Amino acid sequence: MLRVRKLMEKYGNPLEWTAGTRAALLLGLTLAVHTQYFLWAYYQLSPLAPEANQNYVNIAFLNQHKIYLNSILLLSILLFVLVLLLRRRFPNSEFHEYIATQYFSFTLLYCAYAVGTMSVATGVVLAGAPVVGFILFNRRAVILAFTISVIGQWVVSYSSTFGDMPYAPVVKNLQEADGALSHFWLYTMYYFAAPHLIVITVFAYHVLSRWRQREDEIRQLSLTDPLTHLSNRRSVLSSLSLEHERSRRHGASFSILLVDLDHFKRINDSWGHPAGDQVLVETAKTLKNSVRQNDHVGRYGGEEFLVILPGTDTEGAYQLAERCREQLERMKILTADGSMLRITASMGLFCNELLSSASTEKMLHYADEALYKAKEGGRNRVVKFLQEELDT
Ligand code: GH3
Ligand code: MG
Ligand code: MG
Repeated sequence: MLRVRKLMEKYGNPLEWTAGTRAALLLGLTLAVHTQYFLWAYYQLSPLAPEANQNYVNIAFLNQHKIYLNSILLLSILLFVLVLLLRRRFPNSEFHEYIATQYFSFTLLYCAYAVGTMSVATGVVLAGAPVVGFILFNRRAVILAFTISVIGQWVVSYSSTFGDMPYAPVVKNLQEADGALSHFWLYTMYYFAAPHLIVITVFAYHVLSRWRQREDEIRQLSLTDPLTHLSNRRSVLSSLSLEHERSRRHGASFSILLVDLDHFKRINDSWGHPAGDQVLVETAKTLKNSVRQNDHVGRYGGEEFLVILPGTDTEGAYQLAERCREQLERMKILTADGSMLRITASMGLFCNELLSSASTEKMLHYADEALYKAKEGGRNRVVKFLQEELDT
């Protein structure tokens, strides 16, 4: 599994490759499959093959069709090389995708005709190829190739039922005289189907893992504040709702803390916006380091932070808030131009032990009122929201 992951990291996501590279991949795989079929056919025609195989393989048909076998192999090589070369000059041309998908479907339709449209090998290709195709290629190219394949398969199958075309002309004695399936054809069909099954499985595994990984990254980005790397407003409010719900269910009260930097505008005005950003980053780090593992810290607004303290009463929250305030007060920030900055913060605290029925909005409102009092009272302080201040 580790090795698969390493390979994935090395070769990246085929979805992000150019159309030319993706088409070259398909043509490379098509070439590999046709080489495999070509070798099989020439082996049957060679003196190396056991004589008994002549009971099962229509040697006359293979001899007549040598020209097709040779042409398909040659054309596969030419197209693969052509697209490999062209993909650099025209990396995103749809031409590559049309060529690769149509060529794949036409030549495999011929193979399906030869070994039987109702065979397992044909079924695997018909079911698996469009799934991989839709993920990897231009949809129109895949729909065209798939439609041609289905119609072709239908025409060949029906013609076989009316006797207008031989069914599976390369196959002799699929069943033995006693009705048993022949071992030869059982193994040969697996041999024909295996490369498709392997490619489809490996590819689906690879692309879906990448998808999941990318989804996780995007989800993470959507919940993180890009400057401070704290939870953003949406994420910290969602933590607040979760904590509120837990508190309502289990009856344990919790506290919230609104932290607002004092005279932050002056920092921007005097030292510039980048210095202000640096202060926000350092503040975030200090807050994060001052709280416990289970507490949540998020960037609530510009220079406002929301801290959620699960299972913490007013007194516990007050002590923790004081500790944060002191840490912030002690912080020294060295700016790029060598100035040393110091900041302070005001904090408003609300614990729902005062009013367990308070909604999250109400809790934020009460914490904000306490914060306002902290500012009014001279800043650089923590103010608790008190019982007697509750709305009646
Ligand atoms: P008070 O003590 O009353 O809170 O004063 P203050 O100056 O901190 O408050 P005010 O709300 O007037 O100013 C907040 C400033 O924060 C204004 C805004 O330019 C700045 N700010 C908001 N977001 C960012 C940011 O991402 N980076 C920087 N550098 N500044 C920001
Ligand atoms: Mg503010
Ligand atoms: Mg402020």
